Amino acid sequence: MKETLIDRKGRAMKRISLQKRVELRRLYVAEMPRWRRPLIGYLVTFPIVGLGLLVLLLEQLALPNLYFPGAPLLIATLLVALFWGVGPALLSVALGTICLDYFYISPYMRFNILSAQGILQLLPYIIAGLVVAIIIAQREGARYRALYAEQVANEHADELARTNAKLEQANQLKDQFFSMASHELKTPITSIRGQAQLALRRMAKERTTDSEMATVRTALEAINEQTRRLNTLVEDLLDLSSIRAGKIPLSMGKCDLAQLCRAVVEEQRLLSSRVIDLAVPSEPVITEADGERLSQVITNLVSNALKYSPEARPVLVRLSKEDRKAQIEVQDDGPGIAKEELQNIFEPFYRAAHARTSSQNGMGLGLAICKDIVERHGGSIWCESSPGKGSIFFVELPLGR
Ligand code: ADP
Repeated sequence: MKETLIDRKGRAMKRISLQKRVELRRLYVAEMPRWRRPLIGYLVTFPIVGLGLLVLLLEQLALPNLYFPGAPLLIATLLVALFWGVGPALLSVALGTICLDYFYISPYMRFNILSAQGILQLLPYIIAGLVVAIIIAQREGARYRALYAEQVANEHADELARTNAKLEQANQLKDQFFSMASHELKTPITSIRGQAQLALRRMAKERTTDSEMATVRTALEAINEQTRRLNTLVEDLLDLSSIRAGKIPLSMGKCDLAQLCRAVVEEQRLLSSRVIDLAVPSEPVITEADGERLSQVITNLVSNALKYSPEARPVLVRLSKEDRKAQIEVQDDGPGIAKEELQNIFEPFYRAAHARTSSQNGMGLGLAICKDIVERHGGSIWCESSPGKGSIFFVELPLGR
C-alpha cells in the first residue's frame, strides 16, 4: 500500500520510496556534468581542504593574533558543498576538524580532539560545516522532489498519449464499421424498396378493389416508407464517414449564396407548403465553395426548422454579407434548445430531449454532417436558442477565397 503524507496545508503527498530515491539519485547524478560527480567530489575534497589549510597556515604566519582560524577551512567546505553536494561536504568538515585540531589547537602535536577544550574550540567550525551540509541536503531534496514530480508528470503524459492513441484507433474502427455496414445495407434496402415500388405500381395498374389486396397495398406502402427512411439514414451514415475521412473531395467552384438560398427555400416551400420568408441581398454573394454541399447544409437547417416548429409559424432564412464573410441565418419559432444541450446537437446521433420525446423522426446526423461540410469550407456553424423562444442557426463562410 502506498503511504500518503499530509502537507502543512492538508494536501495529500506521496512518500517517495527508497527504491525510487535510488533511481532519482541515479538520474540526478546522470544529469550532472562529469566534473561534478560525487566520486570526483570526494577526491577533490582532499586538495581543496589542503589548500584551505595552507591559507590558514600562511594567515597564521602573517597575522600572529588570528581570531578566526576556521574561516579558510569553512570556505573550502562551502566550495565543496556547493559543487559536489552533501557527501563530499561532510568529508571536508571531518578533514577540516582534524586539520584544525592538529595544526592549530594542538601546537605541540598532541592529538586532543576528544578533550573538552578541543571539542569546545572546534564546535563552532563543526556546527557551521554541518549547517552548510544540511542546507545543501535540503537543496538536493528539493531537486529530487522536482525530478520526481517531472517523472510523474511525464508518466501521466505518456499514459494520456497512449489512451488518446487507443481512442483514436477505436474511433477509426467505429467509422470504418459504420462505413462498411452502411455499404452492406444499401444494396438490400434499395432492392426491397424497388420491389415494393414495383408491386405497388402493378397493383395500381390492375385497379383491384379486393379488401385483401388493400391490406397488401397498405403493407407495401409501409415497406416503401420505412425503407425510404432506412435509405436516408444509410446515406447520412455514409456521408458522415466519407466526409470525416476526407474521402469526398469538395468540388469547389464559384457559387452565389443568394441564388443557393433562393433555390433551397423554393424547393422547401413546394415540399412542405409552409411559409418560409427569405431575406437575401439583391446582388450576388459570390464565394468559392461546393454548391451542392452548401445547398445540403441549408436544406438540412431549413427542414429542421420546419420539422421542429409549429405548422402555423413561418421560418425565416436570411443571408447577409459583411467584410469578407457571409452569414446565413435560419430562424424558427420551435421549442428551442436548452443551453446545456446546445453544445451537443452538432455531435453525431445526439438528439435533444424534446426531439427524443416528440413524434419527429430523426437520427441526429444532419447537423453533424452540416458541421463537417461548413468546417471543410473554412467556416463555422452555431446555434442560438433557448427553450420556448425558438432557435436561430448561423452559418458563417469566408468570401472571396
Ligand atoms: P435529427 O433532426 O435527425 O434528430 P439533426 O442532427 O438534424 O438530427 O439535429 C440534432 C438535434 O438538434 C435534433 O434532434 C433536435 O433535438 C435539435 N434541433 C435541430 N434543429 C432544431 C430546431 N430548428 N429546433 C429545435 N431543435 C433542433
